[in-house]
Amino acid sequence: MSSLDILAMAAHRDDVEQTCGGTLLKMAQRGYRTGILDLTRGEMGTRGSAEEREQEAAEAARILQACWRGALDIPDGRVENTWENKLKVARVLREQRPRIVILPYWKGRHPDHYTASTLGYEACFLSGLARLDCSAAVPAAVVASVSPATPRAGRPRDSRQDASATPLTSHRPFKIIYATLYYDVRPTFVVDITEQFEARFQSLMAYKTQFSDQEAGKDLFPAQKEIRSRIEAMARFYGMLGGVEYGEPFLQKEVGLVEDLLMIPVKSI
Ligand SMILES: [Zn+2]
Repeated sequence: MSSLDILAMAAHRDDVEQTCGGTLLKMAQRGYRTGILDLTRGEMGTRGSAEEREQEAAEAARILQACWRGALDIPDGRVENTWENKLKVARVLREQRPRIVILPYWKGRHPDHYTASTLGYEACFLSGLARLDCSAAVPAAVVASVSPATPRAGRPRDSRQDASATPLTSHRPFKIIYATLYYDVRPTFVVDITEQFEARFQSLMAYKTQFSDQEAGKDLFPAQKEIRSRIEAMARFYGMLGGVEYGEPFLQKEVGLVEDLLMIPVKSI
């Protein structure tokens, strides 16, 4: 097993598909190794069992061309920023060794979403402490795993170690960015997902128990149509901010660094 370039983390199965699935697919298409960590397994959902959702999550990961997808055993609807949970996430970070971590934005309506953000951030910090031992933490259940493709030429290299040799040595991601789609906040950048929009929508529709089994009296088509127009409207809005058709919004806490003013994208007037 080799290190991931990008790991997206979220509270629930299907969160990542909605907030940053297009970006994950785009990065995979560029030859980067991407992964998804779901903190919960969806056992509280009104539709479908956790087992069905696992199969759906695996299918969605395949559509998004993710190399790895895992799920922790944190109770659905009860994502808490406890020491125990931080160690579980830190263990995944040490095993998967991502350079970039995508977290949910730290505010929101659903407590699981904003708690996942803080939990993820603090786990990223803890994972970098050499003397922290998280080997006793419950590991993630692997939902999907694809052996690494040959890395593309020009892929950034750093001093990361091979995860299989020393799986639990300290690791701190280089970069943390926040997927803000669930919250009304101005992003610091958007990723152009015009080419990935259709597949991203299909990855969400892979959750058949959630999106095709709507309440009695409504047939499948209008429900999906409604979901699609909502998702399309959001992607178009964020795309418009970046001057492209469809976009996904992100926020970084750090300032941007510019080398060449002529290469700054997105026109002003
Ligand atoms: Zn969610």
